Amino acid sequence: MTATSLPREWDVIVLGAGAAGLMCAATAGYQGKRVLVLDHAPKAAAKIRISGGGKCNFTNLNVTPDHYLCSNPHFVKSALSRYPSSAFIELVERHALAYEQRELGKLFCVERASDLIAILRQECDWAGVEVLTHTHIEAVSALPDGGFTLSTSQGEWQAAKLVVATGGLSFPKLKASGLGYELARQFGLQVTQCRPGLVPLSFAGKWQQRFADLSGLSLEMAVTAGGRTFNEAVLFTHFGLSGPGILQASNYWLPGEPIVLNTLPKQDVYAALLSLKRSGAGLSKFLGQHWPKRFMQFWLALYPLEGELANIPDEQLKQYAQQLTQWTLYPDDTAGYDKAEVTLGGVDTDEISSKTFEAKKQPGLYFIGEVLDVTGQLGGYNFQWAWASAVACGLAL
Ligand SMILES: Cc1cc2nc3c(=O)[nH]c(=O)nc-3n(C[C@H](O)[C@H](O)[C@H](O)COP(=O)(O)OP(=O)(O)OC[C@H]3O[C@@H](n4cnc5c(N)ncnc54)[C@H](O)[C@@H]3O)c2cc1C
Repeated sequence: MTATSLPREWDVIVLGAGAAGLMCAATAGYQGKRVLVLDHAPKAAAKIRISGGGKCNFTNLNVTPDHYLCSNPHFVKSALSRYPSSAFIELVERHALAYEQRELGKLFCVERASDLIAILRQECDWAGVEVLTHTHIEAVSALPDGGFTLSTSQGEWQAAKLVVATGGLSFPKLKASGLGYELARQFGLQVTQCRPGLVPLSFAGKWQQRFADLSGLSLEMAVTAGGRTFNEAVLFTHFGLSGPGILQASNYWLPGEPIVLNTLPKQDVYAALLSLKRSGAGLSKFLGQHWPKRFMQFWLALYPLEGELANIPDEQLKQYAQQLTQWTLYPDDTAGYDKAEVTLGGVDTDEISSKTFEAKKQPGLYFIGEVLDVTGQLGGYNFQWAWASAVACGLAL
């Protein structure tokens, strides 16, 4: 339908036709609500389309509240337990989506992420939901007797209830915007400080040059930041470090703080060095068994172990083992919102009901998905939050 042929008054208007917005709209539509979804982008669900390398890691088999960052760690519990990953899997199976399980319980589409968008659009159609893209939101105001009026590039709309599902600031080229935060502030809600999450870390000066020389190399390491450790790959790039291990750690890293890399996470490195010393074997042989040659050469040029291993005191070997297992680096920055998969921070969850997602200070106004101060780790946890918060809200509308 075109904007002009649509009714001007709705039970529910959802702002944002992304993962959370479409899921919430379909859920509310099935409850008999007349639902309109508005989005300023040319197409719905742009982030789903490019997510997971085009295959969308749409959920995870092992979702727990511990996989999320939120100022109030209890906030996520209710929605996640009411709509677990098994519920979303049941939905995609009903639509005969071909999906596959990868490492650490991650589920991906086999063919393409757009298959998942088709499922959400189909659900919206079946639930009688209208989705209008190319619509710029100019102003939102509360009506004196309840409900909201919206001025948009496609005219004025009214709704008894308004759901804000406009996501975070990451990937501005996909039309990410801060509208959700602006609306929260307009209605007197606190917004916690935002920063890029699940993002590569950049280095300046000599470290940038060193990592650029290793660009394209990927190694399994254990990466620690802010007290959390992730055993996943680290990728060297022309500006610094990336790969799943670094993206995970970036959620817990703060500027000025270090990240610590264990370059040989599966080894008892000190014991291995002592055994090398006894056997008379060389360090490079040992490192060469675990690392590509390029990284070994880089490491030994940077951290040479002078002299014959047999003559090196155990204490010095212990320190060298620490160098290998606690390689401490100080990133200069993150690669920013252009490269971040998510936004950390957002609408303060103290302002929102964890059962219905309604704003405590503004009846009829709801916030769901990434716009909230809830961020998942890498692995399908962010989409699972979008689905779970959307369904809890959609059932309460
Ligand atoms: C490159 C990339 C890969 C990712 N891969 C994964 C993955 O594999 N697994 C995973 O779990 N998570 C992944 N994520 C994160 C995931 O995409 C998000 O957490 C999720 O999309 C959030 O859903 P949402 O509905 O809250 O927001 P979004 O999906 O961002 O949807 C928000 C919608 O609101 C619209 N909007 C924004 N501002 C306005 C405005 N001013 N007016 C009108 N409409 C507006 C947008 O156009 C968009 O359609 C990835 C993110 C990126 C960037």
